Amino acid sequence: MSAILPKQIGTPEGESLFRQSEKITDLKEGIKIVNSLKETLDYYGGVGLAAPQIGISKKVFIVHLEPDKDDTGLPNVGLKAYINPEILDTAHETNVYAEGCLSVFYATLYGAIARSNCLKIKYLDIKGKERIDEIDHPFHARVILHENDHLNGKVFLQRMKPEDFSRLHWEEDLDIRKK
Ligand SMILES: [Zn+2]
Repeated sequence: MSAILPKQIGTPEGESLFRQSEKITDLKEGIKIVNSLKETLDYYGGVGLAAPQIGISKKVFIVHLEPDKDDTGLPNVGLKAYINPEILDTAHETNVYAEGCLSVFYATLYGAIARSNCLKIKYLDIKGKERIDEIDHPFHARVILHENDHLNGKVFLQRMKPEDFSRLHWEEDLDIRKK
């Protein structure tokens, strides 16, 4: 196995990004997908990756969050897999922050999105154990909501308010193809 260049919106290969994902019924398959996602995220960088981004319409995503050296306040989640996730609850309070995506022009386009500050999620962990987590860190909640959207065939651009489109901006230096 090796890193897979994330599928892109607007390409035939990227059609998986707009499809509803199916539940994992065989844990072994889930683990295999998690391993592919890890390898790809390790290689290209980023804070999360969902199965449709590597062309697999299954309900699996991973999150990778660690406090960085600049101490920007990221939570110490480490690398975590969410199989068959289900968002049980989200807070009414939201925050707005710029989001990009490895599948949207190779992580070069950023736009402001409002997301809930916290949430409750049910999922299977890598051992197949059912877990319910309460996520109260806004950035962790944001990454989970972004990745969970991928499982429902949505990318962040579809979450933007029309009035914010004029403020979309490019970050050419972040282009993952430069890897
Ligand atoms: Zn994404």
